Amino acid sequence: MQNNIHTFRSDIPGPSVAVFCGVHGNEKAGIIAVRKYIEDFMPKRGTVHFVFANPKAIELGVRFIEKNLNRCFTPQLAPKASYEEQLAEGLKLILDDCDALLDLHGYNGEEDRPFAICESNSLDVVKELGTGTIITNLSEVSTGSTDVYMYQNGKIGICLECGSNHLPEKYVPFAMEAITSFLAYFGIAEKATTSPPLPQLRLKAIMVAKKETNNFHFDKKYMNFDKLDPGTVFAKDGRKEYIAPANSCIIFPRPEQIIGHEAFILAEESGLSP
Ligand SMILES: [Zn+2]
Repeated sequence: MQNNIHTFRSDIPGPSVAVFCGVHGNEKAGIIAVRKYIEDFMPKRGTVHFVFANPKAIELGVRFIEKNLNRCFTPQLAPKASYEEQLAEGLKLILDDCDALLDLHGYNGEEDRPFAICESNSLDVVKELGTGTIITNLSEVSTGSTDVYMYQNGKIGICLECGSNHLPEKYVPFAMEAITSFLAYFGIAEKATTSPPLPQLRLKAIMVAKKETNNFHFDKKYMNFDKLDPGTVFAKDGRKEYIAPANSCIIFPRPEQIIGHEAFILAEESGLSP
């Protein structure tokens, strides 16, 4: 696994941070961005671990081999550990050594709307990363992701959804700039220009729905952040009906998901950042 981890140390002391990509092996923008980034990188201070997190899945271009790696960052190792659970054990050692994490992902929809997922302790950093939309509160409804793992350890953890997986090349420059901005925040890299941060739409995750039957469907095709009509049944899973609460929208709609895995996340708007 070691050749999937590229560690750069400066002689000048400073923070330790990690940049992950390929936690999901089919989310290529971040993977390409990190490959390019480390060709010509020297930290100004501190330590940076660049990590190609799921090497087998990256090689095969698939989301995961046995288990969603981004649900494996839990405190204990499962008794019969899958490939991804074993990977997570190793990667946790790196995260435990770091003050902050930027984890680069991509989404399955075709919309042009990169966004970030993090908890309130990471909002100052995430402001710098150039996304207009931030989802917080996932730690209340889900566990096992890299960002929630960092948060649970009192550290900064950001999941950056760098763009559509259908057009990874398009989002490589965005991902590379986000890496620079993240490292610049910690004084590890230099940022040429500082554009004023965008106003950010904040959303609060309120529910993660797991698929229970093979008879799951939405009332229409949804994309990330599509608003739901309050009171309408927007999804059915066997006999179960999901009714839209007020002021809510959908994230990661995955009607084709396998049973037991997440079919969507529900979020509510909590306003614009100051
Ligand atoms: Zn992902």
